[in-house]
Amino acid sequence: MTGLLFRADAYLAETPATVVGLTEAGGLVLDRTVFYAAAGGQPGDTGTLRRADGVEIALGPAAYDGERNVVHPAPPGAALPAVGEAVTVRLDWEPRYRRMRMHTALHLLSVALPFPVTGGAIGEAEGRLDFDLPEVPDKDELTARLAEMIATDAPVTDRWITDEELLANPGLVKTMSVRPPMGTGRVRLVEIAGLDLQPCGGTHVRRLGEIGAVRVTRIEKKGQINRRVRLAFA
Ligand SMILES: [Zn+2]
Repeated sequence: MTGLLFRADAYLAETPATVVGLTEAGGLVLDRTVFYAAAGGQPGDTGTLRRADGVEIALGPAAYDGERNVVHPAPPGAALPAVGEAVTVRLDWEPRYRRMRMHTALHLLSVALPFPVTGGAIGEAEGRLDFDLPEVPDKDELTARLAEMIATDAPVTDRWITDEELLANPGLVKTMSVRPPMGTGRVRLVEIAGLDLQPCGGTHVRRLGEIGAVRVTRIEKKGQINRRVRLAFA
């Protein structure tokens, strides 16, 4: 199981690592990585691997294999390092940081619309959440509410609790389609001081002010009681 450094520090863009496996499809598995691997509607990070001799290899979007390892796809024909080799990996920070800002903004959207979340996606320019929500909320009111929360510049922190503690507090699970990864004995809770507390394994900014201006661009009807709310950087 790959060590996920973004869980402890989402601002870490580079790390030394050791190659522990090569996949048949030409992917690299490292002992640890700073790359977020595709999950919960957020795409995997891309970046660069640097070998000891200075040769650089572009890495495609990181993804999980079936055993909780992060696989970094390399281009066909790349001179891949051998298992055991020490390398350095660096992620493409710009798109990742935009996703961190958007991801955190979606937490706020779930505060502004306290209804069950049934799906979501996080991109560099926009994000969306689907809600079980019978009424259509007002776009501009929502945008104003988000701006109000972002202006508080509240800190975003995380901590770990046991599976048992989570099961004893089922109200913490807002995002029904993205169940927190249980079974490892502990679950990560993300708290936006005074506003939000929910299990999440994703990458967030440290303070709400970093999100910047966002606006609700569209609210679509996806079913009898389902609404898709789209958010973009203003
Ligand atoms: Zn999150």
